Parts: sequence; C-alpha cells; structure tokens
Amino acid sequence: MKTAYFDNASTTPVDKRVVDKMQSCLSADGTFGNPASTTHSFGWMASEEVEWARETVADCIGAGPGEIVWTSGATESDNLAIRGSVQAMRVSTGRTKIITMESEHKAVIDTCSHLDDVNVVILKPKPSGLVCMDALAKVLDKDTLLVSIMLVNNETGVVQPIQTIARLAHDVGAFVHSDLAQAVGKLQWTVDQLGIDLGSLSAHKVHGPKGIGALYVRRGRCQVAEQQHGGKHERGMRSGTLPAHQIVGMAEAYRLSKKEVYPEIQRLDRIRDQIEETLEDLGGIQINGKRGVPHILNFTVDGVDGERLMAAMPRIAVSTGSACNAATVEPSHVLQAMGLSRQQGLSSIRVSTGRMTTEDDVTMLLDSLRHAISQLRRSA
Ligand SMILES: *Cc1c(COP(=O)(O)O)cnc(C)c1O
Repeated sequence: MKTAYFDNASTTPVDKRVVDKMQSCLSADGTFGNPASTTHSFGWMASEEVEWARETVADCIGAGPGEIVWTSGATESDNLAIRGSVQAMRVSTGRTKIITMESEHKAVIDTCSHLDDVNVVILKPKPSGLVCMDALAKVLDKDTLLVSIMLVNNETGVVQPIQTIARLAHDVGAFVHSDLAQAVGKLQWTVDQLGIDLGSLSAHKVHGPKGIGALYVRRGRCQVAEQQHGGKHERGMRSGTLPAHQIVGMAEAYRLSKKEVYPEIQRLDRIRDQIEETLEDLGGIQINGKRGVPHILNFTVDGVDGERLMAAMPRIAVSTGSACNAATVEPSHVLQAMGLSRQQGLSSIRVSTGRMTTEDDVTMLLDSLRHAISQLRRSA
C-alpha cells in the first residue's frame, strides 16, 4: 500500500518534464560541455543552455538575467547574501547592524549569529507569526546595514509584508534580503513589487532538483563579496563550474510553476479548506499562524504528542516542523517564537501539499487524522 506524501515544504518530487530537460544536459549525445569553455562548441552550447535558464528564472521573478547568481540552493544563497553583503559593505558604509527574526530559517539566523563585528537584532514575531512593524521601526536606524526577513515561512506558511518592510528599511538606507524558497509558484510577486535587494531561491521546493538555487542581487545597488574562491564565475560572486543539468532543471521547474500558478493556487486552497474543515470537526485543534500560502498548514492538537500522532498514521508522510531540526527533539523554534509552549510545540504537525497531491491522498490524510486523533484521545 502506498504512503501519501504531505511534506512538500521539505522537498518535492522532480516533475517528469524537468527530468527530461535535465537529461538533455548530461551524456555524450547531449549538452554536457563546461559552460565556461570558450574554445569549442561543447562549451558554447552548454553556455547557451545556462543563459536560457538564467533568463527564464529571472523572468519568473521579474528580474534581469544579470541579477541572477547560481548557487547550490537557498541555504548557500542565504549565506552568500548575508555574509557577502556584510563583508562587501560593512566598512564602506560604516554600518554594523543586521535585523532579522526568530522565525527565520536557520540558514539565516545562524549565518547572522556567526558574523564578527556585527550587531544582530533578532525580532520576535507576533503570535500570528507576522513581524511587529512598531518593533521593526524602533530598531531600524542609520546604523542598519541589512534587514533579512523571509517572504513565506516554511513551517507555518505565514506571508510577511515585505513591501512595507522594504520601504521602512530603505528609508534609513538599509538593504533588504528575503528568503524566497517557499514563495515560488504559490504566490504572485516580483522582486520590484517586493522592493528587495537580495533574494534566495531554491529549485527543489517547486518540483526541481535538489542542490541548485540562485541568489537574486539587485543591479547597481548591492555588493556581495564571494564566499568561495576559484575561477571567478558568476561575475566574481560565486566560483565553481556551473552544473548545466541542475540549472536547466531549476529553470524548467520555475517556468512550469509560473505557467501553472493560478490553477495550482486554487486547487491547493481547496485542499487546505478541506483539511481545515476536518480539523474543526475534530475540535481542540489550533491552526498556527495567520493564513498565508495555500500549501502549508501547521496545527496543534491539544493533548496529543506530534510524534505519537505520526506513528499512528504510518501511511501518511507529514512533519513536526522543519526537517532541518529533525535530529533533535526540540520543538520548532518558529512555533516557540510565536509564543507556543514547549508542549504545544511538540503537539504540532505541518501538512504541506504540492503538484503531485491527489484527491486520494487527501482522503487518506483526512481519514487517518480522524482515526488517529480520536484513538489517541480515547487512550489518553
Ligand atoms: C528549504 C528551505 C531552505 C533551504 O534550501 P536548500 O535549497 O535546501 O538549501 C531555506 N529556506 C527556506 C525558507 C526553505 O524552505
């Protein structure tokens, strides 16, 4: 019997159309060359594929192709954006403050806390998960170099008002970085609408391959110092031979998710409504965070341990929070930042849907939730 996959916020299966595109850039009968080889057609052809991908990804986020830097994923993009911009601009601007939030991905929080000679301010979200604008306005000043706040939270789906955040930050001359890993294909936005200077992207959250991502760097505004030395690829910001197969895979995944964004949002919204109705019928369940993207739903089941709930639903793949924290038994730092107690955090589950989620999967999930929760409550 099959297992229904509801952990698309941790990763997604690669779309078959993306696999086909990737396969065309691997073997001897395909475009396998090194995109940096300038002395023969193998290199020129690979370079053409990479530049097609650059334009495609740029177009999906409303950027120019010269504003995309390929990386290994959103983790590296977060590191490059934060460390790179601080290294390039701390001395020249004389600014020493970075503002971020407790609910950010560890790739942002831990990167910030490993910086030398920087004053890191970490804001607590409101119980809704949203940034507190008054608190942000209070700490923003002429000493602020960078504000790093994600658009879509990976654990709760909460969408931050980045446009307003960026306006406030720019008013004091600070730069704005946003982790956009969960925002592609589930929300309509462009980098200009958001007003950001730096943005982290990942392919594998939108049915592309793992191990490839990009950093958006607004042209003419923001400087980013390279974090690994080598052949000075990507305009000196990120050295390393470009993996053409990964890059075209990311571009095809982004192209498809943009093309199909409207029906996808509607379909996933309906599924979310169905799940929420079932949770309401069961009672004693709180949804965590203000309603945001359609594909992520996080909830606390009163008096039921999350690990036990998952064990009682062996055919359902969900998670108790961020997979990156899976090695520890600590409750999600995001939920705790929103004011949930340790016990509430440990009683929380994240359900995340995606392109491959079927009606049958949803039926399995709802039946399993009803069955497992009432069973665990009876035995409590
Ligand atoms: C998945 C994720 C990351 C990490 O991305 P990788 O491409 O796996 O490095 C970072 N931030 C958010 C919000 C994510 O969802």
